[in-house]
Order: sequence, then structure tokens, then C-alpha cells
Amino acid sequence: MPFAFKSQALSSLPASYITADKLRKSDRILCLNEYSNEEQRGKHKFLTHDKNILLTENQLGELITPTDKLLVLGQYRDSRILLLSKNTLIENQNTAIQPDNWLDIRSIAACLDAEQSTIAATAISLNHWHAHHQFCGLCGHSTDIGTEHSRSCQNDACKQTRFPRVDPAVIMSVINDKDEILLGRQASWDENRYSVIAGFLSYGETLEDCVAREVKEETGVIIESCQYLASQPWPFPGSIMLGFTVKAKKQAINTTDDELEKAFWISKDELLKQKMNKQLLLPPSLSISRYLIDLWLEH
Ligand SMILES: [Zn+2]
Repeated sequence: MPFAFKSQALSSLPASYITADKLRKSDRILCLNEYSNEEQRGKHKFLTHDKNILLTENQLGELITPTDKLLVLGQYRDSRILLLSKNTLIENQNTAIQPDNWLDIRSIAACLDAEQSTIAATAISLNHWHAHHQFCGLCGHSTDIGTEHSRSCQNDACKQTRFPRVDPAVIMSVINDKDEILLGRQASWDENRYSVIAGFLSYGETLEDCVAREVKEETGVIIESCQYLASQPWPFPGSIMLGFTVKAKKQAINTTDDELEKAFWISKDELLKQKMNKQLLLPPSLSISRYLIDLWLEH
């Protein structure tokens, strides 16, 4: 498997919350600590033990109380998989196990098996969606969970139902006629970190339109054709990355759009040399961006 979050192993169960006093022995629980303060909003860590995030109620110790509400995520092997999510700091509370650590999703993708990483990614996306749809966007009344993780407005005069949405993004290796690849970096990234070009789909666009627009906006390069390669669920918080390889027609670079601090063409030999000297850092192997770069390197 070339990158993470591609091994979906959950089969669906009726979506609901259950309280911890209704847990069965065969249930397995992901324990997610989310941070809700402004500085760390969006950050999260999972409790892991023995390279495992699917834990028993007993293993959670003080982290779980009978009134806690858990989200049913689905079925995995012989167990219902449930999510216990807390947004106060719980990492110092006692557990019945000695945790390996509290790991974020990137570390889980690097250390744990592919199916568990994908379950954790699914948990983050579903948890985020439910947390942000507690109230109806039309009338402001509270909503409740329904089939397929929908949420329905509880106001009888409204009853609007919403389903989880996935945000599509495109990501592409842009190659010129000298077999060089186009890399860029955002000013906020770690020093010397570079990647391929990416961006979100807008309403009314085809994926092909979006690929051409993003490459032009971010780098000034005009493309002539694109070919779909692969996709990756991207739980930050609820996207899918659609991966393409693209041929450039006009290669002149112009980064006046401000999204990228720098963009340049680089050959395979030069990239390998700069990578070895640590002059250039590539994306981690969990990401489809690295997969696209590696595919170009290998051909
Ligand atoms: Zn409503």
C-alpha cells in the first residue's frame, strides 16, 4: 500500500450514540482527545496501547464513565467500533493500561496497521461533521442523528436532513517536456519542505477545470492534459484528495497569487541530490503527494 487511509475496513451499522452503560463486551472503543481551545483547535490525539487504538471499556479506566455518549462508527471483524471523544484534556487521567502514547493521526498512519489508521481517519471526519452540525443551518433548532450519519432538524416545522459531506481536492504532479516536476512551498511550511500543487474544487467546476485553474493560479503554468491516477481520503478534517498527473504546455512560473512562496522545476537527478543533502524535504510517505512524486521518480 503506497499511502495511508486507503484500507477502509468498517462495515456500516445503524448510526447512533449509545451511553457507556450499554456497552457490550465485544465492543471496541477509540478514545479521542480533541482540543477545543483556540490555539489548538483541530488538533487531536488517540489513546494507543500495544500498537492498538481499538480498546476495551476496561482498558480505558477512569477515561470512561457510565454516562459518556459514544458514537457508533461501524462494524470491524467481530466488534462494534465506537468513538469516545472528549474535548477537555484527559491525557493525564488514569487508564487501566500503560498507554504507548497519545498519538495524532499522522503518527498513527506511520506506526499502526493500515486498517486501524483508516478507522481513526474515519472517526476524525465523522466526529468533526457531527460536532459541527448540532444545530440546523436553516432554523437554528437542535438536530439529532439519523440513518447513514445524517442529522435531522428536530423542529417539526422544518425537519431538514443533512448528510455528511466530503470536500474534494485535486493534487497533481505537473511534468514538463524535459521530464522535470513542478514543486512549490507555502510560507507556513517547515524550512525546505516542498510538495506538488493542490487545491479545492469549486462549485461548477469539473475536476479537469480545477486541476488547470489551481496550477495556473498558484504557479502561472498552463497545462495541456491531465490523467487521473489515485485518490486518498484526507481527514483534515473531511476531504478526499484526487490525484492526477499533468503535462505542462507553457512552463513560465509566476507565483504572484501569494498562495505559494516559491515554485520551481526540478529534474530527477537534482531532486535526489537535494533530498540526500537535506536541502529539500519531500512530503511524508503517508500522503498521496509523496506517492505522486515517487511515481514520477520511478518512471
Ligand atoms: Zn431546522
